[in-house]
Amino acid sequence: MKPFTPFISKSKYLSGLQCYKLLWFYYNAKDQIPAVDAQTQAIFDQGHLVGGLAKKLYPGGIEIAGAANDFGKILELSKEALRQRKPLFEAAFKSGNAFARADILNPVGRSDWEIIEVKSSTEVKDVNLHDLALQRYAYEGVGLSITKCFILHINNEYVRKGEVEPKKLFTKTEVTKEIQALMKTVRPNLETMADVIRQKRQPDVEIGTHCNDPYGCPLQELCWKFLPEHNPLTLYRFKKEKAFELIHEGHLEIRQLPPSVSLSDRQQIQVEALQSGKPHVDKEGLRDFLEGLKYPLYFLDFETFGTAIPLFDDVKPYEQIPFQFSLHIVEAEGKEPKHESFLADGKSDPRPEILERLKKLLGNEGSIVAYNHSFEKDKLSKASVVFKKYAKWYEAIEPRFVDLLAPFKSFSYYHPDQCGSASIKAVLPALTGKSYEGLEIAEGGTASLEYLRVTFGEVDEKERKKVRQALETYCALDTEGMILIVDKLATLTR
Ligand code: SF4
Repeated sequence: MKPFTPFISKSKYLSGLQCYKLLWFYYNAKDQIPAVDAQTQAIFDQGHLVGGLAKKLYPGGIEIAGAANDFGKILELSKEALRQRKPLFEAAFKSGNAFARADILNPVGRSDWEIIEVKSSTEVKDVNLHDLALQRYAYEGVGLSITKCFILHINNEYVRKGEVEPKKLFTKTEVTKEIQALMKTVRPNLETMADVIRQKRQPDVEIGTHCNDPYGCPLQELCWKFLPEHNPLTLYRFKKEKAFELIHEGHLEIRQLPPSVSLSDRQQIQVEALQSGKPHVDKEGLRDFLEGLKYPLYFLDFETFGTAIPLFDDVKPYEQIPFQFSLHIVEAEGKEPKHESFLADGKSDPRPEILERLKKLLGNEGSIVAYNHSFEKDKLSKASVVFKKYAKWYEAIEPRFVDLLAPFKSFSYYHPDQCGSASIKAVLPALTGKSYEGLEIAEGGTASLEYLRVTFGEVDEKERKKVRQALETYCALDTEGMILIVDKLATLTR
């Protein structure tokens, strides 16, 4: 009996190149692959928006409609559309077990075609080349003459001025030679993948750096579940390759690493804190840090978003635009903090209002405390370059910034529950017991997506209000948490 030959689409082909186990699951145990999370979905949605804009560069093109799983219909429509010699969007062809739909198939001369793959990234990546190689294989397999291959990606130097101009937003990079070099790999890859898919049992694949390269694998929860909480991957700034090596050798617990493993001073502190079960406290280091704080203290935190297609003038693709801040002000030691906040309504660029509000609120003296302050400084600095009347003001306040991440990055304080992380999300609960658990919005990525969804998407007023309240609560906790952290550090030095 002839063996069953599975269809391999470009997304499955790329999964197969990343990991045979992942590929096997897609065909044999798809129900065990978790649904796409909100962050990944947002990347897909962004891709669709970018794809839509790219089509404007090929006017008069034909969209090949049809349900994604109705292969027969899509193949038939694509074949028919070829005769019209117009740009084709999402044209599908199948050759052997390869199935591909190019973003844009553009006619050249009397009978040739070029493939244009649209990417919302700002550069050409290896994975894009494999993607295109599979497409070319499928198209040439049905007799199309492909003369050139391009990746149409985002130009990160583009600055929006008025209407978005697709010609300037995109950079078209020719990759014909690179694809040519990869063509010989496609058929053997497809054959091996077909063999893997036909296997009765899932292939044995060890976890490794490939679990996040080029994409975060959706099966990590399943494959990584044998790892204990304090495994080598949690070692502070430890090379991932080395961590996986240790795991493969059976060294799963960092408290029991062999003496041959060389650790940095900070990694050593991490391991010792874990072994003793007690936090590491360098009182002198903490004192030095606290002495740098000058009242009144301004605890500042921004939330930002970045989109491939800039939403406002003077913004580059993916530039992080602040849309919210929380500011807690403590006038003097022991005084009750005062809270100020801002959450943009989406009608216009939020940066001028943020600059104006902060100019009034931040006064002329006292430390401006932020957690990983280069982030807040960078946003203010960039905004003050665009809105020049704030340039001098920013220049004056910049030296007042103090980074609350510093004592944790230097390991002046380290609690075993931080699990090798110095982020506020790890430090706040470990140091003060206060946590982000139970919040409807509990991290920056979600805050940004939710803001974009309720500000620019179609949602009812009730939902919009609920999300905006959750955003206020979340951002306020970051600055409130910073006050708690400073208070706790002060008690540790006494
Ligand atoms: S988590 Fe890693 S090993 Fe497991 S399927 Fe994904 S890529 Fe493969």
